[in-house]
Amino acid sequence: GHKYKNFPMVPKVIFGRGSFMQLGEILLPKRRNSDAPFIFLVDDFFHGKDLEQQIPWLFNDQIIFISAEEEPKTAQVDALVAKIKSDFDELPSGVVGIGGGTLLDLAKAVAIMLTNKGSSEQYQGWDLVANRAVYHVGVPTISGTGAEVSRTAVLSGPDKKLGINSDYTTYDQVVLDPNLLKTVPKEQWFYTGMDCFIHCIESLTGTYLNAFSQSYGEKALDLCKEVFLENLSEEESEEKLMMASWHGGMSIAYSQVGVAHAMSYGLSYLLGVKHGIGNCLVFEHLGEFYPKGVALFRKMKAKHGISLPKGICANLSEEDFNIMISVSLSMDALWENALGTNWREKINAEKLKEIYSKI
Ligand code: NAD
Ligand code: ZN
Repeated sequence: GHKYKNFPMVPKVIFGRGSFMQLGEILLPKRRNSDAPFIFLVDDFFHGKDLEQQIPWLFNDQIIFISAEEEPKTAQVDALVAKIKSDFDELPSGVVGIGGGTLLDLAKAVAIMLTNKGSSEQYQGWDLVANRAVYHVGVPTISGTGAEVSRTAVLSGPDKKLGINSDYTTYDQVVLDPNLLKTVPKEQWFYTGMDCFIHCIESLTGTYLNAFSQSYGEKALDLCKEVFLENLSEEESEEKLMMASWHGGMSIAYSQVGVAHAMSYGLSYLLGVKHGIGNCLVFEHLGEFYPKGVALFRKMKAKHGISLPKGICANLSEEDFNIMISVSLSMDALWENALGTNWREKINAEKLKEIYSKI
């Protein structure tokens, strides 16, 4: 039977300040020949910044700057793959994603689609990918999502926002260089960091919890508490949040997220609200599901003087609410993890509308 998941982990990881400088030597043995380039997909924040000069490009490698203004889309993945295929006669030696969850997921999806037929939207789901991806390397520049360790690449398609979940999605190599986090703006630092905190709360209070998930989740939660509630040095804070993200991602690999993610997906689908802030907007109103987590969240928010936008759902129509509610309620596994197998008796459309109305 299929009682237990058998899932891949990132096989190689380098950690340390300045480890990005070793990327060139890491890629060298993976270069098939001088006509098989490396493709660097880089958050366009870094265009013209120091990091651009440090990208170890050689021969006909290509650096493509991409805006993280919007979360990745299936059409965007397909267009990138078409461009790479038309620019080069050979399959690339590999793809390197440099940025936050947006760029990390985009690079995973491009690496998969370079070796698989059709459109990326055909692969949104579980274990639909037939062929191994090209070698791919993830370099996070903001911490929290856990996208650097996960076996999913979340994409918005024409009719759904859903990950490409497969054993080929996971990175072959990750570079964890805390120096890359220095320029993250404070609010974004908080929102993406809270994604990690919420992963921990949802995993640790969920019905899917097991000792494997718990061991990672507890470590990640402790690190989040240090980062967001204590007075660490900037260096310590960067390093600990980078590792919290890693452990938080590992924790949900073997369990699931919960109510905040289920509801945040609805907001994101209808209004394009981004993942980190969307989770925060929802989580604030989930005291009845996660009393301790929400109390800690409020403390963290106050300590860092973060004020969330208000009135996001103020002018929505009945139809709009229904769209968000149906997207949210379609995430069976998240609800089951949060509320148990009889979750349909514990949550309904009215209840969700009541919560969305407060946002
Ligand atoms: P992001 O990648 O969307 O980036 C957020 C903002 O921070 C952008 O403006 C970006 O330009 C900026 N930024 C990133 N690094 C920076 C730096 N070092 N200095 C200055 N600015 C920087 O943010 P995110 O929260 O990391 O990612 C969100 C995405 O992650 C969503 O698309 C979500 O679906 C996805 N996600 C994926 C997983 C997974 O397991 N695959 C898990 C959770 C979330
Ligand atoms: Zn998340």
